[in-house]
Amino acid sequence: MTSSQLFDPQIALTLLHELRELTANEQGAQRVAWTETWRRARSWFESKLHDLPVEYHRDAAGNNWITLKGASDKTLILGSHLDSVPNGGWLDGALGVLAGYAILRHFALSESAPPVTIRLVDWADEEGARFGRSLFGSSAFAGTHSIAADRYRADRDGITLEEALAENGVDLNRIGDAAVERANACAYLELHIEQGPILEGLGLPLGAVLGTKGVERHAIIFHGQEAHSGSTPMAVRRDALAAASKLALEIRTIAGKHADAVCTMGSLKTFPGIVTAVVGRAEATLDQRDLDAGVLAQMYREAQEASQRFAHEERCSVEWSRIWNIEPVPFHPRLIELCEEAIRETVNPIGKAHRLPSGPLHDAAEVARLGIPTTMMFVQSLGGISHNKIEDTRESDLLLAVRAFHTLAEKTIAWILSEAL
Ligand SMILES: [Zn+2]
Repeated sequence: MTSSQLFDPQIALTLLHELRELTANEQGAQRVAWTETWRRARSWFESKLHDLPVEYHRDAAGNNWITLKGASDKTLILGSHLDSVPNGGWLDGALGVLAGYAILRHFALSESAPPVTIRLVDWADEEGARFGRSLFGSSAFAGTHSIAADRYRADRDGITLEEALAENGVDLNRIGDAAVERANACAYLELHIEQGPILEGLGLPLGAVLGTKGVERHAIIFHGQEAHSGSTPMAVRRDALAAASKLALEIRTIAGKHADAVCTMGSLKTFPGIVTAVVGRAEATLDQRDLDAGVLAQMYREAQEASQRFAHEERCSVEWSRIWNIEPVPFHPRLIELCEEAIRETVNPIGKAHRLPSGPLHDAAEVARLGIPTTMMFVQSLGGISHNKIEDTRESDLLLAVRAFHTLAEKTIAWILSEAL
């Protein structure tokens, strides 16, 4: 019997139910990072480690590391996050940590040490739900953290991030010390729910993730002229909303030229915003995403050109300012192939495993940006819904996912040994 056949994915599912019981209320999961419920989730998790021959500690950024020493110091890292958004789902993040736990446990209880060292990481504050800083712990690990900006972050009650960190034993000034955890890292793998409708639409339980999409996020302001809605003839109006509305429709055409690209005008405010005035100012936001940096740059340029055209047509002017952007992060080609193989062997012996990019960002993107070979596996999300208490995945698919992820871990270990990394 091979190790894959002996591996039992059920423990991950049992623990997911236990965690849900412990940290959710009628509104959903409440494991917001740096809060009491999150700490409860983490100490519950630690209680599952006591009977295993592993070392565990928290790093300078609050990430939890569990290490099973192998015959070699070369290290495979498995990870995800136990924190959730408020009123979140039971699987986002927790699935990856508890699948990693099932695999680590399997290796820890085998007769001999694994051929490479296996580490499981529970990243601190992936969601950024309370302080608006996503990927907090993994960015400190990757050295892309931003202490100067973080110092001014506060939650709704005026508690600063720095104070909340101190309450959890983390010194904001030292979070960069988490970089020491990179030692000997040869590969990083993360299992996550898809959080979108693609796999469900294809009728597939699992997919190999190509990388995380880059993002261009801008504020766009159209300036026209406020005017009385009764006395201003249509022909002479300078209606800022008309220009903004044309752009809101045009971005669908701009995105539609590319397979996986998305463009979203997520907010639009009008001023003065009353029923009896032509809109003098319209403030919109635009979020554009694609895995290909060239496509992303092209969509950004086309949206700018279109906004100029529509502003001109409506006798308005337009100004753009960048809110935020991030480069696309492609994952490692060989690990993506191994992920496909693991999926095919587990669920779909004939045919092709589906490859898809991730729209949401993940801790895996921070790790990949460091140059550590990385990939993710997605499992289907029912209805494509997440960050919500109705977030769900069929239990049969969850079991397949944990099993395929174990197979991927085994293949990656073999690859680490063969590659002389
Ligand atoms: Zn997540």
